Amino acid sequence: MAVEQTLVLIKPDGLVKSLTGNIITVLSETELKIVGAKIVQVTRELAEEHYQHLREEKFFNELINYIMGEYHTKRIMALVYHGENAIKKIRRIVGATNPEEADPISIRGKYGRITSTGIYENAVHASENAKEAEREIKLWFRPDELVHTIYPVESAVTEKQTFFWKETKTWKPGKKSDA
Ligand code: ADP
Ligand code: MG
Repeated sequence: MAVEQTLVLIKPDGLVKSLTGNIITVLSETELKIVGAKIVQVTRELAEEHYQHLREEKFFNELINYIMGEYHTKRIMALVYHGENAIKKIRRIVGATNPEEADPISIRGKYGRITSTGIYENAVHASENAKEAEREIKLWFRPDELVHTIYPVESAVTEKQTFFWKETKTWKPGKKSDA
C-alpha cells in the first residue's frame, strides 16, 4: 500500500452551511492525518488553474464563480490528508460527483444539491488520483505550510515582503519583542 497525500477543499456551500466540523469528523473515520489546513479566499486565477481540465465544459464559468464563493461566502477550507491509500479512502467517503447519484451516506449524498441553474453544489472537493493530488497540493500549499511532505522540497533565500504583528515586532509565537 502506498503512502499518499490528497487535497480536500471544503467548498463555500460547506462553509456557509456550517458543515466544516461535520465534514472533518466524517473524514476522521479514515484515520488519516491532517498535515496542512487553512482558510483561503480563492482568486479567479487559482480557481481556473485548479479546474483547468474542465475549461471546455459549459458549466465552467458557473463552477469558477461557485468555487470563488460568489453564491455563498468568499472562503474555502483547504486540507491535506496523509496516509496509506489516502486518495481512495477520502474519495470513497466524499462520494460521487453528482450529489443526486452519490451514496446517500457519503458527504456529497448527505449535503450536496443541484441548483436550479444546474451547478453541482457538492460541499467538498477531493483529489481524484495520484497525479492530480500532487498537482493540486502543489497548487494550494507551499511546502512550509505542511508539517510533512512526500514530494521533494528545496529552499532559497528570497527578498519577500513579510508581515508581523504590530508592536511585538516579531512573528515568532510567544516572543514579545526583538528590541
Ligand atoms: P469531482 O469533483 O468529483 O472530481 P469533476 O472534477 O469532474 O468532479 O468536477 C469538478 C466539479 O465541477 C464537481 O465537483 C462539481 O462541483 C462540478 N461539476 C462536475 N460536473 C458537473 C456537471 N455536469 N454539471 C454541473 N457541475 C458539475
Ligand atoms: Mg475532479
